Parts: sequence; structure tokens; C-alpha cells
Amino acid sequence: MANTMRGVYFLEPGKLEMREVPIPQPGPGEVVIKVESATTCGTDLKAYRRGHKLFKPPMPFGHEYAGIVSAVGAGVTAFKEGDEVMGTNTAPCNECFFCKRGRQQLCIHLEGRFNFGSYAEYHRIPDYIVQQNLFHKPAHLPFTEASFIEPLGCAVLCAINADVHLGDTVAIIGVGAQGLMQIQLVKALGASRVIAIGRSPGRLERAKQVGADVIFSSLDGDPVAFVKELTGGHGADIVIEAAGSADTWSQAIMMARNGATVMQFSGLPGGTQVSFDATKLHYGEITMKGIFHMTPRAAEMAMQMLDSGQVTVKPILDGVIPLSQVEDGLLRMHRSEVIKLAVVPSLAD
Ligand SMILES: [Zn+2]
Ligand SMILES: [Zn+2]
Repeated sequence: MANTMRGVYFLEPGKLEMREVPIPQPGPGEVVIKVESATTCGTDLKAYRRGHKLFKPPMPFGHEYAGIVSAVGAGVTAFKEGDEVMGTNTAPCNECFFCKRGRQQLCIHLEGRFNFGSYAEYHRIPDYIVQQNLFHKPAHLPFTEASFIEPLGCAVLCAINADVHLGDTVAIIGVGAQGLMQIQLVKALGASRVIAIGRSPGRLERAKQVGADVIFSSLDGDPVAFVKELTGGHGADIVIEAAGSADTWSQAIMMARNGATVMQFSGLPGGTQVSFDATKLHYGEITMKGIFHMTPRAAEMAMQMLDSGQVTVKPILDGVIPLSQVEDGLLRMHRSEVIKLAVVPSLAD
């Protein structure tokens, strides 16, 4: 086996570079995988376009992955060479102020524990991830779908905190990868009617494919009025914002019924101010929750949802590309030509 591999590096916003670097070796407790799929992510696109507070370039790029264990470090017993695995890009410390309070997604050490570099032929998985967030891939699940475990874990943490009940009407704003997964999760949790709100006719069609009962294009009118009309003037029982603009954050509150839960899932750039009618929040007793990232249990649930087929990511995956096309793939995402692509390092350029 050669001792070097190809890997994509993020140098600065707007600039990626393919490098020939040593194949990583596992330290104690670590695992190295041969990457079979590294899915492109909206967070990578944000970092590539305008920088991101969690990205400190120059750095190896890519954080979603599934692959085959190629080497294990001393002390690793749960995995061996040849195992097919899928995992996430970080794991909590379980000892800090927030971890002790059951909010592992807010772990104060999270930022220093993000593991980048899956847009490469091989990827090293640190011990804390091996212990908590690396899973054996179900044999029937293709690698290209298994690498969705990270974004799906985030969607799961949102869905299980949304207090969905049988019979609920759930409005989901945004039909990107997250919206299309949230639709399936709230259905699995018992929602009777899911209203998907977006703009692209193609993506709204995919929302239908994955289980949305009603679709609405915000290019055709006011989504708040539409949701109210569908719900006898009351508004939705649950609203999930997964579009990521100040306007849709406000709309999410205004299309919720009194007493509803509103999940503000999509992060906005630092300093963004959102305005809404405060009387709606107060007199309407709206519960508004921010939700970020995931927990090890949410990651495990994501794996189980993919394994059981309760969530299908097939309609979200727009194709496979070789390592040499990562930049082109991100630009295609930016132009809304694709939702997600799987980078497959074994593919010829
Ligand atoms: Zn991601
Ligand atoms: Zn912690």
C-alpha cells in the first residue's frame, strides 16, 4: 500500500486545494477508515463561500463519512480492519457544565473536537468519536446513504424536541436536505399532516415523494396565510424552520397556532436580528426553541432510522462525484442544481 493519499484542503473562503499527504496512522483508541462516501453539506458550502466560525483554515475538508476500517489503534476492541462503519464528526466530553446537565450538544469542548478531513482517501477517527459516535454500518445500507448519519442526527435531535403528537399538523419551512429528512421524522413520530413550504418546484415535488401531504411554494403567495387557511384559522401545531433566513424565522412564529412549538433549526449568520410580533409569542403562548447539532443518542437513532428505512435519503442524494470535483459539487449546490452529492474517492477523476 502506498503511504500517501489524496485529500481536499480548505485554504480560505473560495479556495480549495488537492494535496498529496501521508495516510493517517491510528493512535491509541483511534480508527482509520478508507472513505467510501463523504457527502457534501450545506455547512461546507457556507464555510467555502463566506467562512464559518467552526472552520479554521488551512485545514482538511469534509466531515460526513462512511467507509471501511483500514487500521485500528491500540486498545480498540469494538472495530477491526475490514468493518464497514459510519459515524459523526465529533463527540461530547460528558464532563463539562453542559454535558452534566444533559445538553451534550452544547458541550463546551465541542469546538475543539470537530474532526475534519473526510474528502480524502483515508480519514482518521479520534478516540472520543470511536467510543461514542462510530457505528457498524448495516450491510444493506449503501455507503452513500450511510454517510447521511451526521446531518440526520441533527434532524433527529430537532424532531424529538418538537413535541410532535399523533394527529398533529406540522409545517416545515425549507425543502433542502434537512427539510426533506424532517418531513419523514415528524411523520414517524405521528404527525397526521405535514405541510412543506419551499420555492423550488422540483424540491417541493421531492417533499411529496418523502411524505409531505401538502406542498406550498412561497413564490405563489404568503405561506402564513396558506397555513392558517388550512388549519381553520389557527395555525400549525408544530412549525420547523429549516430554510435559514430572518424572514422565515419570523414566518415560523406567525404560522404557529396558539400554544404551538416552533423549532428554529437553521442557523443564521452572527449578528442577524429577527423581528416578529411579540404579542403572538406572549398571548399566543408560543414555545420557541433553538436547536443545534446532536447528541450521541440522536446519532444512534439516525443510524436506526436509516437501517429500518423509516427515513430514506435516496431522494436527497443527487449523485456521486470523485474527489477532484468537490469544489464543482459545492458550486452546484450553491446554484441549487443539487441538494447533496456523495464524494466517492475511488471514482476516477
Ligand atoms: Zn454536515
Ligand atoms: Zn462537555
